[in-house]
Amino acid sequence: MQLIERTNCPVCFNSKFKILFSISYKDEKISKFLYDYYNGNMPTNFLNKYDYVLLECNDCKLIFQKYIPDKEFSIELYDKIISPEKSLQKKIDSKNLNLKYDNEIRLIKKIFKNKKIRILEFGAGWGFWASRAKERGLNVDAFELSKNRIDFMKKKGINVIEDLKKYINQYDFIYSDQTIEHITDPHQIFKEFLPNLKKGGFILLNYPSSFLLKYQLTKNYIPNKDAAHPLEHINTFNRKSFDYLTKKYDLNIINFKSKFNPSLKNLLKDLKNWFYFNNVLIKKN
Ligand SMILES: [Zn+2]
Repeated sequence: MQLIERTNCPVCFNSKFKILFSISYKDEKISKFLYDYYNGNMPTNFLNKYDYVLLECNDCKLIFQKYIPDKEFSIELYDKIISPEKSLQKKIDSKNLNLKYDNEIRLIKKIFKNKKIRILEFGAGWGFWASRAKERGLNVDAFELSKNRIDFMKKKGINVIEDLKKYINQYDFIYSDQTIEHITDPHQIFKEFLPNLKKGGFILLNYPSSFLLKYQLTKNYIPNKDAAHPLEHINTFNRKSFDYLTKKYDLNIINFKSKFNPSLKNLLKDLKNWFYFNNVLIKKN
């Protein structure tokens, strides 16, 4: 189990960066956060020899963590250090999630004008979004790596798929909520899931906003559960890095989702997202 040093930007592969923030994991500012947040489950002694470093790519301006968990530590982190019971309870306690889900479900129905479509959700977690979408009449399959969460979804009657290769060109829409910021290689997402999406299909990705993050990274910054959550949110996303990714995979960013569902409220949401940028709708050409 170790942390791996990244020597290239995970989006554009450039090797020149600026250090925006750096402290030792020994520093109380970060060790206290990790101890409290993970209820004493985080092996802080093991982390002591590493630093928490946030870099900004000189080219695509991606802000990302320099030292990230290796495969073994990732499994430990997501299966043990984060307690499954607590993670489920947190989801149950989150208020207003259904409101957000319903907005997204409405958008999907508007895009496809209520035609029969097939949706794939990756990183489906405990399946709350998939359940809600199912209740609202959408046909959703879920993809997830955690066994606890897969079993939970199956019990709720959600169709969980295991072998993506059996579903090439089967989906009209791919959805993912708060997953991509945790994944070591953002390219992997596109390589892995794009073959499942039909030509002309859409992807909706949600992730934490990195708006103004750079300006918060002063000497007084205390690492926390924001867009740069140590060891978890290893990549933050901005428009420029998404421009790079979408160009590479022949995709288009839809900046105005309100064109599918015109209203003043939706237009204002689009404008907010222009700056805040915590979600992106992408079309496969
Ligand atoms: Zn870059």
